[in-house]
This record gives sequence, C-alpha cells and structure tokens, in this order.
Amino acid sequence: MKILEINHMKKSFDKLEVIKDISLSVNEGEVLSIIGPSGSGKSTVLRCAAMLEKMNSGDLIYLGEYAAHNNTEGKSVYMAKKELRRFHKYYGLVFQNFNLFPHYTVLKNITDAPMTVDKVSKKEAEERAMVLLKKLGLEDKKEAYPYQLSGGQQQRVSIARALALQPKILFFDEPTSALDPELTGEVLKVIKELAKEKMTMIIVTHEMQFAKELSDRIIFMENGKIQEEGTPEQIFSTENTRVKDFIGKFA
Ligand code: ADP
Ligand code: MG
Repeated sequence: MKILEINHMKKSFDKLEVIKDISLSVNEGEVLSIIGPSGSGKSTVLRCAAMLEKMNSGDLIYLGEYAAHNNTEGKSVYMAKKELRRFHKYYGLVFQNFNLFPHYTVLKNITDAPMTVDKVSKKEAEERAMVLLKKLGLEDKKEAYPYQLSGGQQQRVSIARALALQPKILFFDEPTSALDPELTGEVLKVIKELAKEKMTMIIVTHEMQFAKELSDRIIFMENGKIQEEGTPEQIFSTENTRVKDFIGKFA
C-alpha cells in the first residue's frame, strides 16, 4: 500500500520557483532518502508533504485519499481545514533543530499532543510515553527539561514525541546535522532500529553511508527537481557525474 503519493508538486516563494514538478511515492514499510545540495528544495518537499507549506500545484495523497488535488487550471486545491485534521495524524516530522518545547519536561513534550489532539487520557499518554522513552534509552530523563539534555538526547526525545502520535510515516529533515559527530551515531541508531521495525520514513540526510545502508530507494535532488532516483546500489554506482561528485564530497 502507498502511504504517501505526491504528483507533480510545484512550489514557488514569490517569483522563486523552488520545486519544479516533483513526483514521488512511499510504500508501507519503505525508507526513502533524499539527498542533494543545500538549497535544492529538500526541506520544502517535506514541509509541503507535512502541509506546513501549501503547494502551488500538484496532488498530495495519503493512504489513497487526496489532501490536495490539482484542479483543471493546474492549481492545488486543499481539503477544508476540518477535513485536513485527520491527515495530520498520518505523519510525524523530526526537524534538524529538535524543536522541543523548552518549558516542558521530556514527559510533557511527549504526552502533550496525544492528550490535546487525540484526547488520550493522561495515564495512557504517560504509559505510552514511558514505553517510547524506554525504547530510546531515555527513561531516566522523563523529568528533565530540554536544556538539561545533550543534542542527541533532545533529538531522541523529538523522535519519541513524533512516534507518540502513532503516525503512518515519519519525515526526518537532516536529523543529525545539528549534532556533534559523536552524538550523531546514537540518533542514527534509533532511526535504524525504526527501519528494522518497518516504520515508513522519508529521510533527508547528508549521512551518505547511513542512507546507503538503510534506504530502499534514494532520490538525488538538485534545483527543485529529482535528478536521479534508484536503489542505493544504483545511486552509488551511477555514471551521472553530478550525483557522483555530490556523493564523492561526503566519502
Ligand atoms: P534544502 O532543504 O534542499 O536546503 P530548501 O527547501 O530549504 O532547500 O530551500 C530551497 C530554496 O527555497 C532556497 O533557495 C531557499 O532559500 C528557498 N526558500 C525556502 N523556504 C523559503 C521561504 N519560506 N521563503 C522564501 N524562500 C524560501
Ligand atoms: Mg533543508
């Protein structure tokens, strides 16, 4: 089953055309990585998929249902706000800079959305949060505030927070690029664990070795377009010099 499908996405900021006709889909249990130079539009694709930005044109489809569709004039028409609410449940987003609530404890960061959005009881939300914290090796940090944690721990909390809403797909936007190299590993390990459990994910990353090991497919983006798409074997042995040069920089 396709969890997410994007057809002919276009997105401009004023006159700047950032996404120029991108189509992709992600099947259940699949890991798709997006690589490419800075400014190529990777974050914009994720932000549009998560409806933090609206596409100018294109379809956005979750589990076969249209959140937005291209009308006859080639413009994206979104479902009404009330209808869109159920789509928000399908995905979770993990940002580069963690984006935890600084004045909430770890536990409250994780339980807040399930309680307010999903109306889960406090007891149940906390039980679920503790299962996640345990899984991510953070059970002793539940009363800590974000500033008391390392970057790697904060990022693991934000992964737990995203998982607490039980999404169908997780989006990661350069989840380790704000971390010191020695803290990167602990976050990558968690993502690898999720891949093993067949969590569906799109991961924007500059960690080439990680992308190679983990991904079912890799997309190379440049200038708002998909320049190449394939299995890790295909991407890492491509004859496309742009892709080769890019990957080479990280080798
Ligand atoms: P990447 O994640 O690949 O580095 P982005 O999607 O962040 O690329 O950005 C692609 C282009 O869109 C860049 O030129 C960036 O400056 C521009 N851009 C992104 N967001 C906005 C915005 N909110 N307003 C104006 N320009 C933006
Ligand atoms: Mg980005």
